Amino acid sequence: MSDAGLPDPLTHAEWTAGLRDGRLLGQRCVACGNETAAPKAACNECGSREIETVELPTEGTVYTVTTIAVAPAAFEGGYRVAVVDLGTEGNARVTARLEADAEIGDAVAFSDVLEVEEAVPVFR
Ligand SMILES: [Zn+2]
Repeated sequence: MSDAGLPDPLTHAEWTAGLRDGRLLGQRCVACGNETAAPKAACNECGSREIETVELPTEGTVYTVTTIAVAPAAFEGGYRVAVVDLGTEGNARVTARLEADAEIGDAVAFSDVLEVEEAVPVFR
């Protein structure tokens, strides 16, 4: 059972709407406690489909970062993408645009949404 007021199951549309409201929604596996920062049909650790929607922290640390020099269509190259560790017990991590001059281990915060065909979280 999910926290009161959170969509269950979490769809991609609801996850995106959450981003636009400044909220990071994710899922926690009831069986093993693993967390994901984007909707999945089943736990990516144990395969259980018993997963609940959770609200994740909007601050974390840079787990890894890379610069995209040759961008796909609709993007301009030279931007940075990070995996941000949200510091939860279930090890939730979100992939996001990184606009801060941050490196691995630095603290960053969810600050914005980039609208390129769909909403993408931005951390600074
Ligand atoms: Zn699991």
